[in-house]
Amino acid sequence: MSVKKHLCGPCFEEECEIEGVVFCRECDEPLCGQCKLDHARIKVSKNHKMCDLADVPPQEVKELLRNLIICPNHGKEEVVYLCKDHDVTCCSKCAMADHRKCEEVKVLSDIVHDMNMDCTTLSKMLLDLHQRGEILLEHERKQQQLVSEIESRALSSLKTIKQKLLDMYAQLEHEVLSAIADKKKVIGEKIERSNEQTIPFFNEIEQQSTYIEHVEKFGTPEHVFLLQRQLNQNAICCLKSTVGDLENNRSQSSVKCVEDTSFDSLLIEIKNSLRIEDYACDARTQAWGPGAPTLALPPTSGCQILHLLRPPPPSQKFLRTALKRFLIQTVNSQN
Ligand SMILES: [Zn+2]
Ligand SMILES: [Zn+2]
Ligand SMILES: [Zn+2]
Ligand SMILES: [Zn+2]
Repeated sequence: MSVKKHLCGPCFEEECEIEGVVFCRECDEPLCGQCKLDHARIKVSKNHKMCDLADVPPQEVKELLRNLIICPNHGKEEVVYLCKDHDVTCCSKCAMADHRKCEEVKVLSDIVHDMNMDCTTLSKMLLDLHQRGEILLEHERKQQQLVSEIESRALSSLKTIKQKLLDMYAQLEHEVLSAIADKKKVIGEKIERSNEQTIPFFNEIEQQSTYIEHVEKFGTPEHVFLLQRQLNQNAICCLKSTVGDLENNRSQSSVKCVEDTSFDSLLIEIKNSLRIEDYACDARTQAWGPGAPTLALPPTSGCQILHLLRPPPPSQKFLRTALKRFLIQTVNSQN
């Protein structure tokens, strides 16, 4: 057999490289013009069937054809029967050994003779399957694209939520600090006024103490007696009354910080305001369900693999409540 394509086999064995002009099917090799003539003269080869070199199948095709027809049990035999009882093809040896009692053993060539050997239907099925494969690939590509789109949308929503929270926090901080500042100012002014009112009170006490000191030092016991009477009757009474008034007017306003206890649950609500969930997209059922045309895949853009669940975006009011953790109130101090 020739090593190179189309070189005359017999000549090649004699180490001559001559292009073949024809192919002998029986010898399974190309022949040059001279060998073709020799072939036709020799008795054993004169009935060999010749064909064009162009009609010689490539080696792998020859292998395929050989594998198709060879008996799997007997490597040198070709299958010639189809046993319908066992639904197997078999060679003469197999038929003799295993299928002698079978009822329906048909000769392959008879079956072939009665059948339409057209492969159009098979080819059409393969084409359909190929198209389904292509549609699948397209479907997966779109799914992938969709997931990316969902990701972008989620990122943009997250950004918006973050900005709203930051804005709202800034507002909360401003309001709380302003409220404290306002109330601190009012309370501070009141304290100042109260403190101012104690000045004449302390002056009066000092004055009376000085009287006592001077009278004790320079006066007679009579002077001391008279001063005691005077103080008890007037100054002490006045001072007692003044201190009573001052006590009644002491500062009673302060502020307290009220924390809204529902704040933590609102935070959880905010945390849950955006979720990514699985989204069943069963295109297969629609495409390949019973009775569906083979190639009727629906447009994949209609289905989502991921579903962005987005409740109404947190409103200003909602966020205000959520963040209004601190409530500054004016309260009366307990003592
Ligand atoms: Zn030759
Ligand atoms: Zn031959
Ligand atoms: Zn066999
Ligand atoms: Zn059988």
